[in-house]
Amino acid sequence: MTVDYKTRAAALYTGDFRPMFIGGHWVPARSGAVIEAHNPATGALLATVPRGDAADIDIAAGAARRAFEGPWSRFTPFERQALLLRIADLFEKNWEDLCLSDTLDMGMPISRTLANSRRVIGMLRFYAGMATAIHGATIPNSFPGEILSQTVKEPVGVVGAIIPWNAPIAGSVWKIGPALATGCTVILKPSEEASLTVLKIAQLMAEAGLPDGVLNIVTGLGAEAGAALAEHPGVDKIVFTGSTATGQAIARAATGNLKRVSLELGGKSPLIVCEDADIEKAVPVAAMAVFANSGQICIAGSRLFVARKIHDAFVERVADFAKALRVGDGTAAETELGPIISARQAERVGRFMEAGQAEGATLLAGGDRLSPSGLEGGHFFAPTVFGGVTDEMRIAREEIFGPVISALPFDTLEEVVGRANATPYGLAAGIFTTHLGTAHKLSRRIKAGSVWVNMYHAIDPAVPFGGVKMSGYGREGGAEHLEEYLDTKAIWIQTE
Ligand code: NAD
Repeated sequence: MTVDYKTRAAALYTGDFRPMFIGGHWVPARSGAVIEAHNPATGALLATVPRGDAADIDIAAGAARRAFEGPWSRFTPFERQALLLRIADLFEKNWEDLCLSDTLDMGMPISRTLANSRRVIGMLRFYAGMATAIHGATIPNSFPGEILSQTVKEPVGVVGAIIPWNAPIAGSVWKIGPALATGCTVILKPSEEASLTVLKIAQLMAEAGLPDGVLNIVTGLGAEAGAALAEHPGVDKIVFTGSTATGQAIARAATGNLKRVSLELGGKSPLIVCEDADIEKAVPVAAMAVFANSGQICIAGSRLFVARKIHDAFVERVADFAKALRVGDGTAAETELGPIISARQAERVGRFMEAGQAEGATLLAGGDRLSPSGLEGGHFFAPTVFGGVTDEMRIAREEIFGPVISALPFDTLEEVVGRANATPYGLAAGIFTTHLGTAHKLSRRIKAGSVWVNMYHAIDPAVPFGGVKMSGYGREGGAEHLEEYLDTKAIWIQTE
């Protein structure tokens, strides 16, 4: 039975005001100002949300501190675990509506948002399990006599989380889940481009029994609410996902009270197709390594290095794959690529497409805006493939965050390692080869936080994810993620 997502979507948002969530209350901004939320596929107004600013962040910081020191501090790890499991169950029950909300607010096709349950519900359950596994150690020391030394793990306190618009559900849960597992409290500022689903998430968490003030959502602009959160003296840690430039500004703003900071930033990831690659397998993966979410993914494998001997034939097949992709409204079940988030972002993507042609790359697919019937108010691009790209071209150097593949030929493995690493970024990389030694050698030598061999895109709650170099620092996922939310205290006891 096919589900009529379009009809269901129409009932979700009707242009009304959606308040934000502070201290357990649904509130407008103190200033009364609002931001409009538009559907990027149609341009239609979905809702308005508060344009929170420094005053609202200050109130949220107070609520988060009171909760941290008050009722939340008395929750045992087992109670936090039970709460996370109840939240996961509620997410499961409301999964289609959450995904549909994201599709409407930021454009990702419903087929893709629905497929993300492992990264979201799985994450909540993974961290539910981890909540009761947090412990310190009893450590032998060099002092003579009866002196016991032990460590305990304590939550860092109030966490400020700032997320981008390209994956609001996963983005928020990956910040809130570990905070709840460790006993921290959270002030989350979603992107001004996509706040609506995050507000729904807060509603579900409150329904699951989260005490007031443990999770606070302040909607607003980056330069106002975001900047205020990054510099607030009552916030102990900032976890940020977004662009490298904003990450740098946040790291600077956080120095006032020496907040701990973790940053998940941009990328220009290489995907290397060796001469001995399994071509059938590599073509669709190489294409979707960029075209998933219309290229609006931090890990987009946007520099497609292909062994010169197979470059032309391989890239032509990727171009054919691109031409067959269905672009349109994400609420249609058959849509494979949705819109670009905003007019501003679409202009940026368009400029890169022009730059690629002006700099002499060969346009093999796309290169144009699209205007699907009935979606004239949206921002769409044909999936684009450039062949014969050289390392100096802008499309080979800068993060585009749009559906653009830049294919670059290479001759030797030694050469491609050097070229792949010749970027300020280090988020992810892909390698296609059937040779075990090559897989091993390249995956160790590429400087990136994640390397996928004969696959791409795998992200799992149990496996650490994050960048090196200017793609940031800190890890999300896995046991290491929890350490980001914990302090280690050493306790010494003389027992005689
Ligand atoms: P962005 O940096 O413009 O915005 C991200 C968030 O930061 C938004 O909530 C925004 O309001 C806020 N912000 C902006 N200026 C701020 C400031 N001065 N102080 C505090 N907060 C501020 O990024 P974007 O355009 O929303 O997202 C795209 C970028 O995010 C890309 O570079 C992409 O690679 C990156 N990204 C990285 C990952 C990852 O895990 N590494 C995941 C998704 C996106």
